[in-house]
Amino acid sequence: MRQPLEDRTITISRAKFTVDYPASTMLISSMNPCPCGFYNHPDKDCLCPPGMVQKYLSRISGPLLDRIDIHIEVTPVSFDKISEERLSEKSENIRARVEAAREVQSKRFSDEDGIHSNAMMSSRLLRKYCQPNEDGMKLLKVAMEKVGLSARAYDRILKVSRTIADLEGSETIETDHLSEAIQYRSLDRDGWGG
Ligand SMILES: [Zn+2]
Repeated sequence: MRQPLEDRTITISRAKFTVDYPASTMLISSMNPCPCGFYNHPDKDCLCPPGMVQKYLSRISGPLLDRIDIHIEVTPVSFDKISEERLSEKSENIRARVEAAREVQSKRFSDEDGIHSNAMMSSRLLRKYCQPNEDGMKLLKVAMEKVGLSARAYDRILKVSRTIADLEGSETIETDHLSEAIQYRSLDRDGWGG
């Protein structure tokens, strides 16, 4: 699974030939927070013995976890919240925002061969298009040291923060874009069950 996630191709090698197939994928997956299912639950206690949550999480390899851009914890929603009549944002507004962000990205990468979205950026392009300002760099440094993020997670944070900035119509990556992107690394080793 790592190769299609990283290179967007699948290589099949046989004795006499090697073929590359295009495999641009979007991976979406979900898992329980722990074997009993109540880790971080607002009302119930997790009954897993010490070390169990870490052991459970380690069933997904670190390198695979690193290649997933966004980790989000979905906490249980109470009946009152579900039944509440809330005005949520209309899908058409969200769609317009997403389309505008995609447009910005198409323009950004118009000179880069075969690249048309932030997700496809290589490390070289990341350095070119995702330079945070001085405060942003400080924030990243603290996050890397405290949370123990890998170099690959660092790249993910930069990419996701570029997209958050695009969705807000911001040309520069601001510190709040970075801190939002850092929050989307909740499964990184030290941040979950650690
Ligand atoms: Zn548990």
